[in-house]
Amino acid sequence: MKHVFFIIIGFYFFITTAGILFIGMKLFVVKESVESLMKAEKGLVARLELRDTIYRLKDAVAKDISGAETKAIIAKTDVILSECYGCHSSNAFMFHIRDAKNAVKQLANDLEGGNSHKKQKRISIIERHISPFAEDSYAKVKALSEPRVEHVRQELYKVRETGIYLVVMGLLLFAGFSALSMRRISRLEREAAEKELRIVRSEKLAALGRLIAGVAHELNTPLTAVSGFSELLLKTGADDNVRNMAGKINTSAVRMTNIVKDLLIFAEAPKLERTPVNVKDLFLETVDLAATALNTCNISADISAADDLTVFVDKSRMERVLLNLLTNAAQAVRDSKKGNRILLSAFRNEADNAIIIEVSDNGPGICGEIIKKIFDPFFTTKQFGKGTGLGLSISYSIVKAHGGDMKVKSMEGEGTTFTIELPAKLQNEGTPSSSA
Ligand code: ADP
Repeated sequence: MKHVFFIIIGFYFFITTAGILFIGMKLFVVKESVESLMKAEKGLVARLELRDTIYRLKDAVAKDISGAETKAIIAKTDVILSECYGCHSSNAFMFHIRDAKNAVKQLANDLEGGNSHKKQKRISIIERHISPFAEDSYAKVKALSEPRVEHVRQELYKVRETGIYLVVMGLLLFAGFSALSMRRISRLEREAAEKELRIVRSEKLAALGRLIAGVAHELNTPLTAVSGFSELLLKTGADDNVRNMAGKINTSAVRMTNIVKDLLIFAEAPKLERTPVNVKDLFLETVDLAATALNTCNISADISAADDLTVFVDKSRMERVLLNLLTNAAQAVRDSKKGNRILLSAFRNEADNAIIIEVSDNGPGICGEIIKKIFDPFFTTKQFGKGTGLGLSISYSIVKAHGGDMKVKSMEGEGTTFTIELPAKLQNEGTPSSSA
């Protein structure tokens, strides 16, 4: 994930830098072209101004206006001609300008003499030199500037397209990263909430365990007396009525003794006797034990596990866990009349070096409020007498004692999956352990 992130960021920076360099280069080219266009335009304006000045001079001479105004026009003509002379390298143009300059000078002299015919002649000489020069310049500048303008336009298009491309790419990356970050944040939040729940549950279970262990030990002695004496009374009772009542007391005492035993399993970490157990056989035996319950509900239990998949577990304890999950699933399916299938599956998760066992059903599922509490001892949604609410908390304790973990996933109306994760490394060590 981190790698992908850095690769994308690196790629983005590379593309952005290349794009900015490209835009900079194009803008530099455009700047050069615009500068040369401006220079050409300045020259063109000077030629057209020169042509207009000549026409004004011609007018002034034709109307025989002498004096300050004509002199000013002549002076201006001279200045513009000098400018044009300075900025041209073409011999033909220089020749024209030089001749025009001489003619202007002579016209200035003629102006003093007042010879109208001579002045007209000079003017037509100047006009002959200047007009084609101005027109020609105009045509040339136009011919030069048109492709340059087009070139500038094309370059500016490229700059605009690159800019748009960079902005769009930036936005897409931003949106992509935002979506990824949001997903990651919400996943982390979910994981943190789950972790917190598990910590709270462990702490709660530990505290409850201590309390329950004390109570269970205290109850054990009087319960032994109750069941012992009730059994004695059952055998030696004076009349049927007494024996009948003794029988009822004994049944209740046995039930209470079983509950106390369960409480002790939950409260004190169970002592395990681990052996290598074939998972498929474990599944088959559990289904066999639950056969009556499954048949009466008309539910089929499927099994999926590799033939050689083995776990190092306390067989009877693990059987109890699976039986509990299987009967819970069967009862949920039967009571809700929703679903008809239970699947027991197992596989090895090489990445985590673990054996994963799943018990899933397509029953009613568990709603959000209930799912938070199902591992709590004494939590049950079943009718009084049908469930003690100890099944899952005991199963959880057994799995934890094996160094494993137990989780539940459920969608209301879709079904439930309980996942047991057991460490597979003991299997590699090959030394079955009997510790808790
Ligand atoms: P009990 O079976 O005595 O109620 P458990 O601890 O085994 O106690 O189960 C607690 C509760 O979890 C059940 O009462 C039931 O509401 C819920 N539950 C367990 N398994 C399932 C399942 N497969 N589908 C729906 N609900 C379930």
